[in-house]
Amino acid sequence: MHSSKKVIEKTEKYGAHNYKPKEVVFSETDGIIVKNPEGEEFYDMLSAYSALNFGHGHPELIQAAKDQLDKLTLSSRAFYNDVLGDWMEKLCEFTGKEMVLPMNTGAEAVETALKTARRWGNLVNGIENGKQEIIVCKDNFHGRTITIVSMSTDEDARKGYGPYTPGFKVIEYGNIEELKEAITPNTVAFMMEPIQGEAGVIIPPEGFMKEAYEICKENNVLFIADEVQTGFARTGKMFACQHEGVVPDIYVLGKALGGGIIAVSAIAADSHILNVFTPGSHGSTFGGNPLGAAVSMKALEILERDDYPKQAEEKGNYFMSKLKEIKNDDIVEVRGRGLLIGVEFKEDAAPYVEKLIEKGVLAKETHERTIRFAPPIVSSYEQLDEALARIKVAFEK
Ligand SMILES: *Cc1c(COP(=O)(O)O)cnc(C)c1O
Repeated sequence: MHSSKKVIEKTEKYGAHNYKPKEVVFSETDGIIVKNPEGEEFYDMLSAYSALNFGHGHPELIQAAKDQLDKLTLSSRAFYNDVLGDWMEKLCEFTGKEMVLPMNTGAEAVETALKTARRWGNLVNGIENGKQEIIVCKDNFHGRTITIVSMSTDEDARKGYGPYTPGFKVIEYGNIEELKEAITPNTVAFMMEPIQGEAGVIIPPEGFMKEAYEICKENNVLFIADEVQTGFARTGKMFACQHEGVVPDIYVLGKALGGGIIAVSAIAADSHILNVFTPGSHGSTFGGNPLGAAVSMKALEILERDDYPKQAEEKGNYFMSKLKEIKNDDIVEVRGRGLLIGVEFKEDAAPYVEKLIEKGVLAKETHERTIRFAPPIVSSYEQLDEALARIKVAFEK
């Protein structure tokens, strides 16, 4: 087995430097615990940006994957497979929507939602093709494709990638007046994250989501919720839109949808929207693959059975209250919903992340000053207490 040092050297030598990982090497995992090649243990408090709701190596998910591996892994959509239909039915039950369009990554699902909205505007609403407009929010994170970075306001994500895809307007996150002003007869959709994860766990002002949804309805504009990070119980509700009783026209789903094992993403919407797609108009070789569908099916079954939203809410409230007890004048705010929690510092939080790692806790700063904690929802209170004790030592001066 390679040492951590060797692994890091090779990764940096042969891999493009589009990430700057913290110097911790994952080699074996169990639930919330990560081991490096030297056998040192860490508490995973990032959960692959919320993809690992169920922690690492959940036995039922692993079994579902193994069972499906033995039977069938890929059909492509040139043919049917005997897993996809059941899974899509289940996802429709979860979202209350009539139809699903499966993809693999979150970015692909976002792209799919944008394509849906543009086509819907053109084919259903008669907006001239090429004139469709979509409204998004400042400091959004929706993925990494050219079109998605075109609507980003993050210079690191955008620089040098022009020409950018036109057709987007950016409003301030949570500003209802700006939303009203941005809508024109050519607007087809407004897309937002119910909580901005990458931006630093930013929760919109109370009532914004609901009001935004209503304004969209009045103007015949689709309300798209990017729940890739917030979906599937993470914030204490099955979907974060439920905090304001909003049912979006289109759910964008990913990350935890694949149980942290395989990339599974999808959008869910009613048929009057998703029927804009006709054969040949969109697709993906691996989208809807039976391996992903089988693992995701099991993930949905577990989510339903063990009341994960309630677990995330209770554990999140506990975790957040303990974080708030930590005394350090550099901490500006502790905020979050469920188990999606941000600790904002006055200045660069990277040194605190290093201290956390020294104490065996894995988390990462986002937008420099905020450390995001998103432990697996399966974490026990004993594990959370142990992690909290270490966080306290790392954070207190
Ligand atoms: C992670 C994320 C995406 C992109 O998902 P990928 O699987 O990395 O392409 C999109 N939207 C949100 C809100 C995310 O957190």
